[in-house]
Amino acid sequence: MRSQRVEAIVLRHTDWGEADRLLWVFTRELGKLQVVAKGVRKPRSRKAGHLEPFTRVELLLARGRDLSIVTQAEAKDAYLALREDLVRVGYASYIIELLDRFTYEEGENIGLYRLLSETLTHINKEKEAAFAVRYYEVRLLDLVGFRPQLIHCVNCGAEIKAEDQFFSFEKGGVICPRCGSKEAGVRPVSMPALRILRHFQRSNYAEAQRARLSSAVDHELENLMGSYLTYLLERGLNSPEFLRCVRKIAENGDQ
Ligand SMILES: [Zn+2]
Repeated sequence: MRSQRVEAIVLRHTDWGEADRLLWVFTRELGKLQVVAKGVRKPRSRKAGHLEPFTRVELLLARGRDLSIVTQAEAKDAYLALREDLVRVGYASYIIELLDRFTYEEGENIGLYRLLSETLTHINKEKEAAFAVRYYEVRLLDLVGFRPQLIHCVNCGAEIKAEDQFFSFEKGGVICPRCGSKEAGVRPVSMPALRILRHFQRSNYAEAQRARLSSAVDHELENLMGSYLTYLLERGLNSPEFLRCVRKIAENGDQ
């Protein structure tokens, strides 16, 4: 076994064996990873307090062939202010769950790591935590390969004008009013909401913050992006299952 020091954010954990825990962490160096923390459910464990979900922690890992073992853990940021506010806890759980469900153990992704840790900091510190969450949704879509098309109509290719539009989950972007009125299953998206999406898509967080997010637009985007992300996840989760099924059928057919 070799040792490696990593910085990580704890996504979730489950009890394992007598006194151990299995943890899903998202590390800066290795991306998403499952690790074992031994003895952390014993009352006097020194590591336990450092390994709660949504803590940013420095870990020393003994890397085995299968699972890595946590040999040291030191919390860098427990986002304490966030934990005292249930709405903020809700936001943090939401962004963690999204990242967790959109990623596999596929190696380093520094962009995703930064987005997650910075968004936790914003939710922890900022007065209007919703702003950071709306920004996160747009950037996450980019980083996991589902960047929505917001400049041209995904149906006819016409440039999107400054008016209310439609959004197609299936085609992954904006549909102009001409096409949208004929298309089934599209959602309306207002011009102010679309303006925010486009602004977030091309801006870093400091630039993004120059825009004001009204509560009406926040609400609209929460519904639209929440439904879109759910749609993508359902589609994304069905395909591996489908693949497993057809592989099984193909294997049986060979015999
Ligand atoms: Zn069109």
